[in-house]
Amino acid sequence: SKSDTRKTGLVLPPDTSKEDFERAISDLQSKIGAEHVQINDKPLDDGWYLDHPKTHDSHHITDQETLVASAVVYPGSTEDVQAIVRWANTTGYPLYPISLGRNFGYGGAAPRVPGGIVVDLGKRMHRILDLDGDNASCLVEPGVTYFKLYEAIQERGLPLWIDTPDLGGGSLLGNALDRGVGYTPMGDHWGNHCGFEVVLPNGELLRTGMGALPGPNGADNPTWQSFQHAYGPSIDGIFSQSNFGIVVSMGFHLMPAVNNQSYCITFPEDSDFEQMVEIIRPLAQQRIIGNIPQIRHVVQELAVTGRRKSDFHQGSGPMTREEIRAAASKLPLGDCSWVFYGTQYGPPETINSQLELIKKAFSQIPGSKMFLPKDVPEDHVLHIRSRVCAGNPVLRELDWLNWVPNGGHVAFSPIAPTKGSQARIVNDIITKAFHRHGYDCFSTLCVAGREMHYIAEIVYDRGDPDAKMRAVKCIREMIAECAEHGFGEYRTHLLFQDQVARTYSWGNQALMRFNETLKDALDPNGIIAPGRNGIWPKKYRGKGWEL
Ligand code: ADP
Repeated sequence: SKSDTRKTGLVLPPDTSKEDFERAISDLQSKIGAEHVQINDKPLDDGWYLDHPKTHDSHHITDQETLVASAVVYPGSTEDVQAIVRWANTTGYPLYPISLGRNFGYGGAAPRVPGGIVVDLGKRMHRILDLDGDNASCLVEPGVTYFKLYEAIQERGLPLWIDTPDLGGGSLLGNALDRGVGYTPMGDHWGNHCGFEVVLPNGELLRTGMGALPGPNGADNPTWQSFQHAYGPSIDGIFSQSNFGIVVSMGFHLMPAVNNQSYCITFPEDSDFEQMVEIIRPLAQQRIIGNIPQIRHVVQELAVTGRRKSDFHQGSGPMTREEIRAAASKLPLGDCSWVFYGTQYGPPETINSQLELIKKAFSQIPGSKMFLPKDVPEDHVLHIRSRVCAGNPVLRELDWLNWVPNGGHVAFSPIAPTKGSQARIVNDIITKAFHRHGYDCFSTLCVAGREMHYIAEIVYDRGDPDAKMRAVKCIREMIAECAEHGFGEYRTHLLFQDQVARTYSWGNQALMRFNETLKDALDPNGIIAPGRNGIWPKKYRGKGWEL
């Protein structure tokens, strides 16, 4: 949606005047080029996935104008990033670094502090600095998308895969920093990064991992993308989900292409959930299940066809169980409750024997059925999952946004143990909260042997203030209720980061006090993404910024 007017007009950084702001902006323009600094005073345009705004959160869950940038800047090099950081130290303006800003459901490109300066790294810094077929690794700048790396690999004919999230337009680097997940055996994106280069809040440049040891004759270290831990304290982690620096390049391990077979298994009843999780645990721990599989509730299955909710349900409130059954029975998988999507890797004999074991284990649940891609029509999502699980970026998952007009989404993403009884508690909290607030529950679970990422998406009409208010309320209640049972989020939208951070309170907020100590030492002027992940610099703390 595009508004023709701005209600509030330009939102300045905190504690500055229009004159000072304009002076500071032209000073920055003289440093990195006038055309690379844009003031955000035009009407806001939500765009769409591939043409998304850097000025605000296009999937806004409060007023569109709540989380807006005062300006967006486009560095073209590491030196530009350093110049921007040094400039921010003199002005005190908060920067908000993004790679591509397609972090939809978690805040998109928006800065946490209204009037912050968005540093859009992806627009001009998108080189693949290294692609090593022998080491099966790469080194990329922030603007490299899954699509771009995929194309480069195809062009060179390398037998490598990339691990992509549900949508392939994001940044490898940005997604890894926010600890996103994918679905091949290398689905832990942060876990598979290997070394990076980061501009610190004082403008200095640092290399992590083996990159800290200079290579011969000024070259990069030859093992920079080979060994993650190197020597001394492992500091990589403090730069992910934080605000301690701006990462300008990052290394990743890539997966060798292998023979593979995707499949799905349906389960008839909602109440099969607990037993399903119990069956998955040993299969995943023993690595019989080949990838990080996904479980989806059948409502998600309906939505990913791109159909509208109004085709199945009149009026407000969630679809009834009967409506879901009636609609699902017309789909290729038939009437069911949960669908498990998995992929096996290796020679055909290995895959076949694994599939037998998996089928047998799940057959303990009466009425479960296994499907292979050949069993379903070409446009079924199993074919898409099969592509994703074999390293191909796709855009198909956008289709479920058609569920409501003007569809936006926001995610609630707690971690649950891969134990039936515990997982059921989380599932109950989520389904009840969604229904209480009038939403269909779009549940997707990424399941590993010991934990699962439960990702529940609220899909709402961005033009409906009441729908947004209910979404916010729903998420806040789920955060609190899950925390009471010991379940916490692995990632959250900007607006909930304070609340989630506060739930990790063991030892009288020992973790938060440690993060604040780091923040104040590394970033005394509090210029890098204040408030990101609930970490506020001294200058902002206790002054009403926390939500
Ligand atoms: P994507 O487009 O891949 O989904 P984003 O670029 O939106 O990812 O990045 C997700 C979040 O990670 C951002 O909101 C920001 O907080 C953080 N982030 C992204 N890139 C960087 C970076 N290069 N340096 C520091 N933080 C970053």
